[in-house]
Amino acid sequence: MAYSDENTENRILSENNVYLVPLYDKSRSNLRADCKKCFGLCCVSLYFSASEGFPIDKDPGDPCINLQSDFQCCVHRSLKERNLKGCITFDCFGAGQKVAQISFGGNDWRKVPEYSKQMYEVFLIMRQLHELLWYLTEALTLQPARGIHDALGSMLYETERLTHLSPDSLTELDVAVHRASVNSLLLKTSERVRAEARRGQG
Ligand code: SF4
Repeated sequence: MAYSDENTENRILSENNVYLVPLYDKSRSNLRADCKKCFGLCCVSLYFSASEGFPIDKDPGDPCINLQSDFQCCVHRSLKERNLKGCITFDCFGAGQKVAQISFGGNDWRKVPEYSKQMYEVFLIMRQLHELLWYLTEALTLQPARGIHDALGSMLYETERLTHLSPDSLTELDVAVHRASVNSLLLKTSERVRAEARRGQG
């Protein structure tokens, strides 16, 4: 499966030179969970605690008891009534479908169990990268930060590039180092937004 976008200017190639991806998408459609294209990765790879609003206590790698064979949730329509706050509030920022369809080329952890451990690890890394993509995309919409939009755009590009590394490269990635670089730019963004707000009040 390949991502495509009408805007050919903002495309980059993945590490394996197969997938063309939209780089800057104001709508953030690429950063919203698409569970139909995922393999229930959040419902299997995460540690759960019933006290935190999940159905049961479970270890990472154990599928949730409510995850069906088609990777859909059998209680999805009644999460609120069941007070499953953890399930409601968790957001993968679109990492799930990218891991499922791009990093692992549509091979799911049931059919190819030998991929499962690495798939779960990659999902946790991808989720962090997609969260950073969300913040960087948001920062690029803020006019007070226009002086650093080039730097933000470069960081967005680099973060998107990282999401298209191979599974082996992703598991070796030091996300904390990349996150620190992104955070530094987001802090500058925040300072500029607050400075302009103060000027507006003066
Ligand atoms: S209850 Fe549904 S949404 Fe929550 S973890 Fe289980 S399968 Fe996923």
